[in-house]
Amino acid sequence: MAGIDIEGLATVYPNGVRAVDGLDLTVAHGEFFALLGPSGCGKTTLLRTIAGLEPASEGTVRIDSADVTRLEPGKRGVAMVFQDYALFPHMTVSENITYPLKVRRVAPATRTAVAERTSGELSLQGLLERRPGQLSGGQQQRVALARAIASKGKVLLLDEPLSNLDARLRLEARTFLKKLQKDLGITTVFVTHDQAEALALADRIAVMQSGKLRQLGSPREVFARPANTFVANFIGSTPMNLLTGSVASGGSVSIAGGSLPAATGSVPVGAEVTVGVRPEYLTLSIGDVSGPSIRGSVVVAENLGTQSLVSVECDGTLIGVTVPEEDEPDPGATVVLTASESRVLLYDKESGELLARQPAPVG
Ligand code: ADP
Ligand code: MG
Repeated sequence: MAGIDIEGLATVYPNGVRAVDGLDLTVAHGEFFALLGPSGCGKTTLLRTIAGLEPASEGTVRIDSADVTRLEPGKRGVAMVFQDYALFPHMTVSENITYPLKVRRVAPATRTAVAERTSGELSLQGLLERRPGQLSGGQQQRVALARAIASKGKVLLLDEPLSNLDARLRLEARTFLKKLQKDLGITTVFVTHDQAEALALADRIAVMQSGKLRQLGSPREVFARPANTFVANFIGSTPMNLLTGSVASGGSVSIAGGSLPAATGSVPVGAEVTVGVRPEYLTLSIGDVSGPSIRGSVVVAENLGTQSLVSVECDGTLIGVTVPEEDEPDPGATVVLTASESRVLLYDKESGELLARQPAPVG
C-alpha cells in the first residue's frame, strides 16, 4: 500500500531555519491529502523533504512502508508538480510529458503511446506537438500533471498547482483534479495556502503553522471543530467569531452582554475563555427567543451571493452572522442571536487550544 508515514520529521536549512519542526503524520493509500497553512509555514519544504529534494535533518519518511529517508529522489517512486510547473520550453508537450521515461531509457514507441494516453486523460488531445509557450496557463498546468502521472510514481506531490491560474480557471482545474485523482486512485499530497481549495479537494487536511502541525482532520472536522484559535482563524471564508467570555452556570457562557449555550465540561464557572462560533452556525431572529441569547443591533450587511453576512453590535462587540439573502435585516434593527450548544466552542484564553470534551459536531 503506497501510503506515506512521517515520523519526528525535521528539516533545518543551513541558515538554521527549522522549516519543518518535528512532524508526525500518515497519508493513507489512495488518499487526497492537503497540506494547508500560511505562506512560509513550511509546506514546500515538507513536500521537498518527502520527495528527497531536501535532506531530512531528523526523523523518517516511509513510502509504501519502505524507509526512504536517505534514498535519492529518483528512487522514491514519487512524482512532483512544482508551483511554476517547470516545463522545458524548448520541448514539445509530448516530449515534456515523456521526459521522465526518456531519462529511464524507455523505448520511443512506448513513450509515444504513453503521451497519447496521458494527453487523453488530461484533455490535451491535439496539443502534443505544441511547445509550452503556445499553451494557456491551464493547459500548461495539465501538461505538468500529465508528466507527473506518466512517470508512474506511487505518490503524487503537488505544490500549489492551481495558484498560477486565474479564479475562474482555478475552479475548473480544481474539479478536474479531484476527478482525476479519484479515477487514478493515486496517493496525493497537495500543498495550498487556500483554505477553500483544501476544504473542497481533500479527504483530510493537515493545517501547519511555523513548521508544526496544528490540526489534522477531515474538511468537516477542521471547519466545524478547529482544534485551536489559529485553525479557527485560518479556516472558513467568513472568519469565525472569537469572543472573550466567561463560563456561566447551567451550561452556558456569558459573552457580549448576553449568553450562548455551551458544553462547559470541567471548565469552572467564572473562568474566562475565548468563545468561538462561526457566522454560519449563529441564528438571527427578530423578537424574543427562549434560552440563552445575545441581543444587538445590525450595523451592516454584506452580500455573499445566496447569503448575507450581517455584522451585529452586541454590547460594544461586533458579531458576524450569515442569513439567507431574503432574511437580511435592515441596518439599525434590533436582533437576537442564538446557537445550538454543539456549535459553541470554548478555547483556552492563553494557549488558544480547544477546551473540555465537547460533543462532536452534527452533520
Ligand atoms: P511555504 O511553502 O509554506 O510558503 P517554505 O517551505 O517555502 O514555506 O518555507 C518555510 C520556511 O523556510 C520559511 O521561513 C522560508 O523563508 C524558509 N526557507 C525556505 N527555503 C529556504 C532555503 N533554501 N534556505 C533557507 N531558508 C529557507
Ligand atoms: Mg511554498
